[in-house]
Amino acid sequence: MDALHKPAPDETDDPRADARAAETRVAETRVTPMMEQYIEIKAANPDCLLFYRMGDFYEMFFADAETASRALGIVLTKRGKHQGADIPMCGVPIERADEYLHRLIALGHRVAVCEQMEDPAEAKKRGGKSVVRRDVVRLVTPGTLTEDTLLDSRRNNFLAAIVRGKPSSGSDDARFALACLDISTGEFRLTECDRVRLASEIARVEPGEVIVSDALYEDPDVAPFLRSLPAVTPLGRDVFDGASAERRLTSYFAVATSDAFGTFSRLELTAAAACVTYVERTQLGKRPPLSPPSREALGATLSIDAATRANLELMKTLGGERRGSLVAAIDRTVTAAGSRLLAQRIAAPLTDPAAIARRLDAVEFFTRESILRGVVREKLAAAPDLARSLARIVLARGGPRDLAAIRDGLSAAADLAGRLSADGLPDEITTASRDLRAPDPALAEMLSAALADELPLQKRDGGFVRSGYEPALDEARALRDESRRVIAALQARYADETGIRALKIRHNNVLGYFVEVTAQNAERLMTPPLNATFIHRQTLAGQVRFTSTELGALEAKIASAADRALGLELEIFERLAAAVIAAADAVKAAAQALAVIDVAAALAAVAIECRFVRPEVDGGVGFCIEGGRHPVVEQAIASEGGSFVANDCDLSPMSDTGRGRIAVVTGPNMAGKSTYLRQNALIVVLAQAGSFVPAARARIGVVDRLFSRVGAADDLARGRSTFMVEMVETAAILNQASDRSLVILDEIGRGTATYDGLSIAWAAVEHLHDRNRCRALFATHFHELTALANKLDRLFNITVRVKEWHGDVVFLHEVVAGAADRSYGIQVAKLAGLPPAVIERAKHVLGVLEAEDRTSPARKLVDDLPLFAPRIAPPKVAVDPHAEAVMKRLAELDPDDMSPRDALEALYALKQAARG
Ligand code: ADP
Ligand code: MG
Repeated sequence: MDALHKPAPDETDDPRADARAAETRVAETRVTPMMEQYIEIKAANPDCLLFYRMGDFYEMFFADAETASRALGIVLTKRGKHQGADIPMCGVPIERADEYLHRLIALGHRVAVCEQMEDPAEAKKRGGKSVVRRDVVRLVTPGTLTEDTLLDSRRNNFLAAIVRGKPSSGSDDARFALACLDISTGEFRLTECDRVRLASEIARVEPGEVIVSDALYEDPDVAPFLRSLPAVTPLGRDVFDGASAERRLTSYFAVATSDAFGTFSRLELTAAAACVTYVERTQLGKRPPLSPPSREALGATLSIDAATRANLELMKTLGGERRGSLVAAIDRTVTAAGSRLLAQRIAAPLTDPAAIARRLDAVEFFTRESILRGVVREKLAAAPDLARSLARIVLARGGPRDLAAIRDGLSAAADLAGRLSADGLPDEITTASRDLRAPDPALAEMLSAALADELPLQKRDGGFVRSGYEPALDEARALRDESRRVIAALQARYADETGIRALKIRHNNVLGYFVEVTAQNAERLMTPPLNATFIHRQTLAGQVRFTSTELGALEAKIASAADRALGLELEIFERLAAAVIAAADAVKAAAQALAVIDVAAALAAVAIECRFVRPEVDGGVGFCIEGGRHPVVEQAIASEGGSFVANDCDLSPMSDTGRGRIAVVTGPNMAGKSTYLRQNALIVVLAQAGSFVPAARARIGVVDRLFSRVGAADDLARGRSTFMVEMVETAAILNQASDRSLVILDEIGRGTATYDGLSIAWAAVEHLHDRNRCRALFATHFHELTALANKLDRLFNITVRVKEWHGDVVFLHEVVAGAADRSYGIQVAKLAGLPPAVIERAKHVLGVLEAEDRTSPARKLVDDLPLFAPRIAPPKVAVDPHAEAVMKRLAELDPDDMSPRDALEALYALKQAARG
């Protein structure tokens, strides 16, 4: 990496000058005034890397410099001495600061950004030794980002606070409150839950940063869980103080009491207050526009634990990629906010059939109205990310393009509102359309009138206010531009008067404007009569520079006109920003409405493109999917020109009052068992999220908890054996699944010895059937389990069909009633390319094994339940002739009839015989 190092020359505390001074200094322990300032600011922010602004760089010193240079691969230099030792230093140029911040945050660092709070010239006026005033303006942490460059536009970035309360009476389970807020969009949610639900909520929101009290962070009960999360920040108890929570929260929102938001428990208020306090601390008092906290009723969303989310690859694949996940397969949104909302809905499907129907109505509306859908999507695609621009403007971090984003977003909103105003629209669309009208049209008009067509990134670059908007600004600009023309004219005149054609008027930051001529021509300007006009300023190798009274006067005029123009522009910026901030609530409502419409139209688009149908979701425990497909696998197969085989799944109760059923799915490897299991789980997620589903028909009794487990998944990173993981996860299901849950178990018991595995799988199925009484799909390679269907009345067998063809296996991917007759393991191995000799040998061994008595132990088990363990005969051992001889001799001995000497001799003889 390049060592970009060039501190601004006009800095009072020029580091190089400082360093030189330090070298000549005898008493090297003296601390320079600048270092003194640095050390003081650093001491106030000990847990952050300090980005210390010096001119065009953020510099880091001491250990910070060493850490950052290692993390960022930038050159470590040194600068002066502190207490006799070199001071390590490294820096990043401000224009690339975002990029470096991004990398440091991703690596888990926190950064305090310390700015110059005054013009260095001001400091100079106080005397040569004074230091530019500096202050930390912001702490950058993973959970409190707002910049587009630091954020993924398609994902929320939540800050979560976890608080633990006392166990409620009659239970010894501690209660937790969780507050989640995204300062880049203003979303703010609260929940109170138990330990298990907490883990599943955290898995759902995937917070960028979690804050907890120091005490909780050290608590042995939760520490392992907290340590497993990506970024956890322990904070002092004042942040988590319950007594002051309500006051802190109401003061943030400037309301009299928290009743304004609804009723919250003390625990929830504490978590919410911790969040806003942390936001105020990291934003140094600025208050990003948050929605008032809203509570999600417990049970309002489908509970999906972390393992299930990972397994079903809802948001990302097991490999960590978005591509290949459910959300990637169905996301047809055209705005970033829509994409975030869709991800939220997939992460947290609903459980209330009426609320689900409301979403489905909106999707259905757009599937019917295809022309309107096209128009709406086209308009949306041109709408910018209102929510994030708004947050930046409120935090005084916005630029002219953020104002333009508000302008364009609001006009898109007004336009869409006009198109979605007919009667008889579905509820969700009517509400959204009303919210689109929330902002006063005058705001968009004001922004349109004020902003120029081409906008700079930073407001300090100026030039973003449309000419003709404000007369005073036009005047200052005219003066500035006019003066520049006057300079050009002056250069022409001077060239003429001196006869030096190559005479130029140039500008730099040190000298300002100057006349420059080559060394040969310089003599003329330094002798009469021209030396009366030209005043020598600087001699370089090839050039000599001069100034003149006239040039000096012009320069002052230009500088003041330019300053005045910029000053006026910045004033206008602040005025516009204030107008936006005043309308923040309405803008946020419109932004959310745009997202809602985007999601509905996008789900309609995917439904049509991929032949999804509207699911029927009701309050029962039925589950009947006709012609179901796996949305991700289907797309993958289609892209290779293949076609996916649709399959039915019916777990509905056999009678109206009964419970849902359990299907045991058998079939060889590669037959499509895992795909079948997952597609049914994904159809539930989609349906309850309010999407159409990949099936010909789907009727689903609302699922309260969804579980999915795969046997022997690798989790070496967390240092647990795969089998241990499998069992921990299975235990969670058996302990938590209710009669409204759907459980998907894929080859549980694979990670241990055959009989262990079979026994565990067996007992687990019985438990699901008798205790949990849930709907379940259980794929297994233990064919013995199919015998259970005779014993358990709500259990039935299905199998994935294969055909044998000239000794090879052909996968039909078709699910039918019944059990697989065998595993076809050798045929699959052949397909996989095992050497022919190995295949032949395996066939031979299999033949021998099959010829032996293979009466399935399972058949007996079913009759003898639950006493099956002792029934399983140990595998037979082939007889060894030596052992037989020893046994025979041993049997012939009669110890009562032997002298000690005889006994000893017999022992030697036995040992001899045993050796052979
Ligand atoms: P199993 O779990 O039985 O070993 P998988 O579910 O992993 O089998 O499926 C193996 C492969 O078969 C998948 O990668 C997929 O490409 C293909 N497949 C599975 N189900 C179907 C289907 N219904 N239609 C077409 N191809 C399928
Ligand atoms: Mg499988």
